[in-house]
Amino acid sequence: MAKKQFKTESKKLLDMMVNSIYTHKEIFLRELISNASDAIDKLYFKSLTDDSVTLKKEDYEIRITVDSEARTLTLTDNGCGMTREELENNLGTIAKSGSFDFKNNPENKGEEGEKIDIIGQFGVGFYSAFMVADKITVESRAYGSDEAYRWESSGADGYTVEPCEKEACGTVITLHIKDDTDDEKYGDYLNSYRIQALVKKYSDYIRYPIRMLVETERIKEGTKDEYEKTVQDQTLNSMVPLWKKNASEVTDEEYKNFYEEKFYDYEAPLKVIRQKAEGASNFVAMMFIPSHAPYNYYSRDYEKGLQLYSSGVMIMDKCKELLPDYFSFVRGLVDSSELSLNISREMLQHNRQLSVIAKSVEKKIASELSKMLSAEREKYERFFDAFGAQLKWGLYSDYGMHKDVLQDLILFKSSFEGKYVTLKEYVTRAKEEQNKIYFASGDSIEKIKLLPQVESVTAHGYEVLYLTEDVDEFALQMLRTYSDKEFSNVCQDNLDLDTDEEKERIKSENEKAKELFALIKESVGGNLHSVRFTASLQNHPVCLSSEGALSVNMEKILNKTPGMEEAALKAELVLEININHPIAEKLKELFESDKEKLASYSKVLYTQARLVGGLSVEDPAEFGELICNLMLQ
Ligand code: ADP
Repeated sequence: MAKKQFKTESKKLLDMMVNSIYTHKEIFLRELISNASDAIDKLYFKSLTDDSVTLKKEDYEIRITVDSEARTLTLTDNGCGMTREELENNLGTIAKSGSFDFKNNPENKGEEGEKIDIIGQFGVGFYSAFMVADKITVESRAYGSDEAYRWESSGADGYTVEPCEKEACGTVITLHIKDDTDDEKYGDYLNSYRIQALVKKYSDYIRYPIRMLVETERIKEGTKDEYEKTVQDQTLNSMVPLWKKNASEVTDEEYKNFYEEKFYDYEAPLKVIRQKAEGASNFVAMMFIPSHAPYNYYSRDYEKGLQLYSSGVMIMDKCKELLPDYFSFVRGLVDSSELSLNISREMLQHNRQLSVIAKSVEKKIASELSKMLSAEREKYERFFDAFGAQLKWGLYSDYGMHKDVLQDLILFKSSFEGKYVTLKEYVTRAKEEQNKIYFASGDSIEKIKLLPQVESVTAHGYEVLYLTEDVDEFALQMLRTYSDKEFSNVCQDNLDLDTDEEKERIKSENEKAKELFALIKESVGGNLHSVRFTASLQNHPVCLSSEGALSVNMEKILNKTPGMEEAALKAELVLEININHPIAEKLKELFESDKEKLASYSKVLYTQARLVGGLSVEDPAEFGELICNLMLQ
């Protein structure tokens, strides 16, 4: 029998297919199962209007058979089958030359041309089987025909078609699995556990049963430890997608099992989000908020994304375009029947469709989080403990572009009751004359509470937000204001809390002490930018604050960021001395009587202010010696 040649284009495509288009060889099974399911669909729809089709809905099936000795994997379906012409046309031509001409014609390029999805029209899924098989036999009998044909090919060198015997309509595809190589264990595809896992992974929601004889071992009746092998005919797929069931029909247990199995988590999700969109885009989404961050969440290894299904068939495991970075913790899937897929089903051709879905998904997640915040506060706080930092990064990134989505979803602990508050709660209970939102940052809440400036602001009855995470201050700086109130770092900005009378007094005292301050500054040296008196401190003698754009805390964070050490960014430090503390008089006195002692006092006070402010001692040995000398006097 003469071997027929594939069309030239087909040869090229076949070669491309085997070598490059698909990144995972295992998807061949999904492609063949999808084809079988399509073929059954065709016959099933015919049966709706044509009484001559005697198969009932429950008769349809896709069967997988493994023969590891013969190294064959067989897929059988009782769908519409193919005629001789169809075998030749569908499996003998991958892309018609006319279409190539069309695509290559300059007249068809340009704005309109870009939209034409040529390759998408020509399925090449079947050929993916050549990635794992060195010979493929297809026996098929079309519905309504009494002839059957066998198509056979060993790859690019061509194919043969000849008549064969086949009792019922449908198609049997037999793959002769390649021999194992050093790099690739093709024999895996003859392992029934591997096949079961692949069906679960890619084709779980195919509408027709995918069956296979599965060998299982069980304890022999009447014995305690003797095993016997039994063969069971099992249905491998669950057929009805959970996300296509009504939310009211799905139990928490089902969600939990689905989530844990699909997303490899050991804990039930904190929240399930269901979405069904109709109109501008049609899709259903089922999403989960995990109850804890995956171990690699805050590392570079973590990959965000939702699974993407096209009419129940998974085409992408992690479609990252579907989630913004700040919601990267969301797991789940989107199923749409409208996606136009390109040649490999692994890449999507029209990203516009995807971005419409992504926008809608983002809105849904934001609104569900906001609902959770107002209706299930305790749950939301647990969520925030796990993923709050990500939302704050989102606020900071892209120059604050996402603040409308995010600003009402973030929480901070505060001086009010030590609990989490939202910005809205803060401004709602702020005093009438209060036009700022005060915050203080540090390594821990305990340390922040000890800051002299925090004490003075709370003494005025104002609430202070406690910022303990690296990203916090950067996020607020990007936000700048909330509800027309500016954010104010209690250790940085002029707090303006004094009465007019006090202000006057401080102004003239500062004026008078200029030379004293110059001497203190000179004695301390290093990073001290300026010195001044303050009337705002309660009992503390001194405190350290900063001027300019960079706060002390931001300096700390930036300088520990890899790649930033070189820049050695410095905050402009200010030593503030409590005018109402006896130390102020003492310093003035020493300025007149003993400048050497004043220098030692300055260094000790400055170090003290650093320690209280959460900074390290610059020269511990010198500091120890100074204290010791003072003790001996
Ligand atoms: P696609 O499925 O994307 O169209 P394939 O290369 O996988 O591309 O298949 C080419 C064509 O071969 C299908 O469109 C279909 O008409 C036919 N075909 C493949 N498998 C079967 C099958 N099991 N039963 C009937 N027809 C099939």
